[in-house]
Amino acid sequence: MSQNVVEFHYTLRNKAGEVLDRSNPERPLAYLEGSGAIIEGLEESIGSLAKGDKSEVIVRPEKGYGFRDESQIDTVSRSQLPADEINVGDFFQAGADQHAPVVQVVEINGDEVTLDANHPLAGQDLFFDVEVVEKRPATPEEISHGHVHQADGCCGGGGGGCGCH
Ligand code: ZN
Repeated sequence: MSQNVVEFHYTLRNKAGEVLDRSNPERPLAYLEGSGAIIEGLEESIGSLAKGDKSEVIVRPEKGYGFRDESQIDTVSRSQLPADEINVGDFFQAGADQHAPVVQVVEINGDEVTLDANHPLAGQDLFFDVEVVEKRPATPEEISHGHVHQADGCCGGGGGGCGCH
């Protein structure tokens, strides 16, 4: 199966119509089909659009960020956290690994801090306005790397080479 690189602009709203996120107007979001770079529900809908198409896409939690899982909420002591000052609403990376999950402080009670590792958009219906601005076949190099190469090369490395592989 051939894979495409798709570039699109989006505005994401919640059910109440509040804007949660949007693409940079100067730089659309680009993804390689099938690479898992964007949520499943969005990729399914955008996959059927052509360059220039605009569409409204509603993504349910099962094809978005999943449902909230109460077992992902945990209470730890303040000394276990990598910061001196902690406030409700702060985000932390739960571990030194750069791929460690991000947790949010939801409650502070004396020395006890309650952390929530659910994705902030878990359990929500997501309302996207999307516009496909580019759709082109992926290059063999992009397919073998599993990601999009921008005009400035792989991973922004420049010089036309790929620094990451
Ligand atoms: Zn690459």
